[in-house]
Amino acid sequence: MQTDVLIVGAGPTGLALACQFIRHGVDFIIIDKKETTTPYSKAIGVHARTLEIYEQIGLAARAIAEGTIAGKTRLLEEGELRAEVDLSKFGEGLSAYPFLLILEQGRHETMLLDRITSNGRSVRWHTELSTFSQTADGVTAEIKGPDGAAQTISAKYLVGCDGAKSTVRHGLGLEFGGGTFERIFYVADVDIDWEYSHEALNINLSKDNLLAFFPLPGEKHYRIVGNLPEGTQKEEGELLYEEIEEVIKAELKIRMDISNVNWFSTYKVQTRHVTKFSVGRCFLAGDSAHIHSPAGAQGMNTGIQDGYNLAWKLALVINGRSSSEILNSYNEERLANAIRLLKTTDRMFQLGAGEEWFTSWVRVHIFPYVANLLTRMDFVKRAIFPLVSQIGINYRDASLSMNDVDLKVKAGDRMPYFVLDGKSIYDWLREPKFHFIIFNDGSAPQAQMADGLGGLADVHYIPLYPHIAEIFDTDQTFCILLRPDNYIGYIASGVNVDGAKEYLRKVLS
Ligand SMILES: Cc1cc2nc3c(=O)[nH]c(=O)nc-3n(C[C@H](O)[C@H](O)[C@H](O)COP(=O)(O)OP(=O)(O)OC[C@H]3O[C@@H](n4cnc5c(N)ncnc54)[C@H](O)[C@@H]3O)c2cc1C
Repeated sequence: MQTDVLIVGAGPTGLALACQFIRHGVDFIIIDKKETTTPYSKAIGVHARTLEIYEQIGLAARAIAEGTIAGKTRLLEEGELRAEVDLSKFGEGLSAYPFLLILEQGRHETMLLDRITSNGRSVRWHTELSTFSQTADGVTAEIKGPDGAAQTISAKYLVGCDGAKSTVRHGLGLEFGGGTFERIFYVADVDIDWEYSHEALNINLSKDNLLAFFPLPGEKHYRIVGNLPEGTQKEEGELLYEEIEEVIKAELKIRMDISNVNWFSTYKVQTRHVTKFSVGRCFLAGDSAHIHSPAGAQGMNTGIQDGYNLAWKLALVINGRSSSEILNSYNEERLANAIRLLKTTDRMFQLGAGEEWFTSWVRVHIFPYVANLLTRMDFVKRAIFPLVSQIGINYRDASLSMNDVDLKVKAGDRMPYFVLDGKSIYDWLREPKFHFIIFNDGSAPQAQMADGLGGLADVHYIPLYPHIAEIFDTDQTFCILLRPDNYIGYIASGVNVDGAKEYLRKVLS
C-alpha cells in the first residue's frame, strides 16, 4: 500500500486531520486499532475555534444541532444556589460562536467519521501500527490488520495521532516529560433527580475541590466531573463508584438521587509534553504530544488545531508548491502553544480547585457574588473568552509571521472576526489557500490586483468600514496575506504586493 500520509489513530485528532486532508486534496490512509469510534462521552467541551474550523468543512451547524450550547450556569455552594450567569453569548462580537458547545466525544467522532465516509474514504479499523522506519524519501510502516496478518504501508509522511501512550512517539524516541497531579479525578455519566432544572451547567464551588455537572442529552442526564481531596489513600483503579457518590453527596448537602451510572472512570491527571513535535517525516498531534488537566476542556480542541496547523503545510509540500522547510514551522508554532497550554490549564485548575487559602477564599466567598457583574464586563470577556475558547492563540513570535506596519492586530494573530455585508468574514475565506486582503480606505484602485499574486492567493477588497477600522485601529489602507488556516502571515500598510510576493517567496522557498 502506498499513500501520501499515514495517519495513525482515529480519535478526534486523526479524524479531524483526515477531514482537512480531504479539503486540501491530499491522499491518506488512516488506521486505528479499535473497532470503531469511542462509545464514551470523554471530551464534551467544544470551543469557538474548533467550530470556526468546522465551519470551513461544513460541520459547525451539525455539531451545534447535535450538542447543547452552555447557557445558564449556576454557581453552587454545598449545593445551594449562590449565583446564576448566562454564558450563551459570553464571547459576543469575538466569534460567530460566542459560547462553549457541549457535545460528547463519541457523537463528535461519529460526525467526523461520517464526513470522511461521505467523501468516499474510510478508516481502517482493527488495524494497529506495529513498527515504522524512515529515510530521507519516505516512511515504511508495518501494520497488523483485522486478520492478524502483517502488511506494509509506504508513505511520504506519517502523523501519530495515537493518543497519550503513542507508539509513534515511542518509535521516535521522544521524551514525554512532565509530572502527575497528586489528586484523583473522577468522571461519571449518570441520571440525577434533584431540585435543579436540566438546562444549566452547575458548578459547586468549594474550598479545595472541583465538582461540576454538565447537562447531556436526556431528561436528567449529566456528566459529573470532580476531584478527590489530596491525600486520598486509595489508588485511582481501586475506587468504587459508591465511594465517589459518597464524596459527591458530602459536597452537595442537598437531596439528590443518582441513578443509571452508565460510565464511570477515575484517573490521575498527567501534565506532559514532548520537546519536539516532529522528527524527519514523522509528526505528532493531539494527546500523543501533550496531555494536561481537564480544566478548561482544552485537550481535544488542541489536538484538532494541531492537525489544522499541519494539514495545509503538508498539502503545499505534497502538491509541490512549497519546499519542506515550511514543515519546521509546525513544531515551532504548536510546541510553543503546548507549553503555554500546560501552564494555562494548571492555572485554571488552581483557580477552580486550588487549596491555597486566598484563591480558595475568593472562589467561595467573593466570586459567586460578583460573577454576574464580571461576565457582563467587556474587558473581562475580552480577556477570558479568547483564552478559553482558543481564538486567542497566536504565532506572533514564529518565523512565518512578518509585520511591515505596527497595528493593533499583528502577523501571527488569527484573523479577527467581524461581520461583512451581513456575513461572518470567515464565510468569505473558505477556500483552503492564501488570501490577500486589501482593507481599502477608498484610495486603492480595485483593478490593480487582478493577477492574484500569480495565482497563489485569492484577492479580496474590503472597505474599511468604521467597525473594521476599530478592530485594526487604523483608518488608512493596509493589506494582509492570510495563511490557509486563517492566521495572518504578513501585514503591511498600503497595497504592498511586492511585500506579499516576497513573503510567499520566503515562506514557500
Ligand atoms: C474524562 C475526560 C474528559 C475530557 N474532557 C475534555 C473536554 O471537555 N474537552 C477537551 O478538549 N478534551 C477533553 N478531554 C481530553 C480528550 O478526550 C483528549 O484530549 C482527546 O481524546 C485526544 O484525542 P486524540 O485523538 O489525540 O487521542 P485519542 O482520543 O486517545 O485517540 C487515539 C487513537 O489512537 C489509537 N491508537 C493508539 N495506538 C495505536 C496504534 N499503535 N495503532 C493504531 N491505532 C492506535 C487509539 O485506539 C485511539 O483511537 C477529556 C478526556 C477525558 C478522559
